[in-house]
Amino acid sequence: MNQPARVTVVGSSNADLAVTMPRLPGPGETLLAHSFTVSPGGKGANQALAAALAGAPTEFIGAVGRDANAEEALRLLREAGVELGRVRTVDGPTGVALISIDDRGENSIAVVPGANGTVTADFVREVGGGDGAAGLGGVVVLQGEIPAEAVEEAVRQAAVGGARVVLNLAPVIELAREAVLAADPLVANEHEAALVLEMLGAPVAADADAETMARELCARGLRSVVITLGAAGSLVAELDRIEHDGGPGQSGEPTLTRVEAVRVSAVDTTGAGDAYTGALAARLAHGDSLVEAAGFAARFSAASVTRPGAQASYPRSLDEVDAL
Ligand code: ADP
Repeated sequence: MNQPARVTVVGSSNADLAVTMPRLPGPGETLLAHSFTVSPGGKGANQALAAALAGAPTEFIGAVGRDANAEEALRLLREAGVELGRVRTVDGPTGVALISIDDRGENSIAVVPGANGTVTADFVREVGGGDGAAGLGGVVVLQGEIPAEAVEEAVRQAAVGGARVVLNLAPVIELAREAVLAADPLVANEHEAALVLEMLGAPVAADADAETMARELCARGLRSVVITLGAAGSLVAELDRIEHDGGPGQSGEPTLTRVEAVRVSAVDTTGAGDAYTGALAARLAHGDSLVEAAGFAARFSAASVTRPGAQASYPRSLDEVDAL
């Protein structure tokens, strides 16, 4: 088999600081909590780990602070052999998510972007080698947890390097239209898909179904779209690549394929969407079709929901994924 292409994730990495407590405290209140854990998170790092565990040579590009959380934020990426040579260390804190969880499973979360906010367009241009240089090749994976200008620059560097862009616009941030339309695919859940349509000037009814949104996104110029639907699986929408390969900005009737989720007993779905996106990118890097890659991503993410946590729950062996 051919060598897989490289997956490059430009995005966020966090330390997730989680506290469990009998109930969420009110203003001015101090409560005794049950437990405290620190674990690595951030959508960029989660997706990079998933891509690496799914078998693609993977690089993570982002920033951490000069503090003790930096090591934790990158720990599992390092263990999995993700290339980290272009992660920048900056003054100030590593991104953190402060997560409070009560006995009923209700949570409240405060995210401090910290170093993730320092991933600027200039930084991404530098890692792409500067203007006129090689850019970013292979499969480039982007999310919405770093500044919009950095995501837009990564899309430009991907164009320079001839890379395929997988854009998981979560959270949905205001991006230049060309950057959104460069995605192949755009990966979004139903809520995010509706927000992206609104951003593209094509708002849909609140009860619009995934098929309607996927068709509408392709009509607006996306070449391919994957809408994830939790335990209901995902929907792949794709324009014909041979007849319509006019590049981003084209429009037409896509082929829709429903990819079922794998039935498992779900313990914790935290990070399932990131597992799905990273695994999808890894299989695209291996040369799979989008529908084949989505089938693999469904198995990979199903394995992840059978265990607690985000990165810690991702399958370490592809035998486990194949068995599903
Ligand atoms: P997000 O968390 O980003 O909203 P989803 O909840 O749609 O993402 O989950 C992403 C993918 O993970 C789904 O498309 C599905 O394949 C898989 N998945 C999520 N929840 C389950 C579940 N309970 N059982 C099996 N697979 C699941």
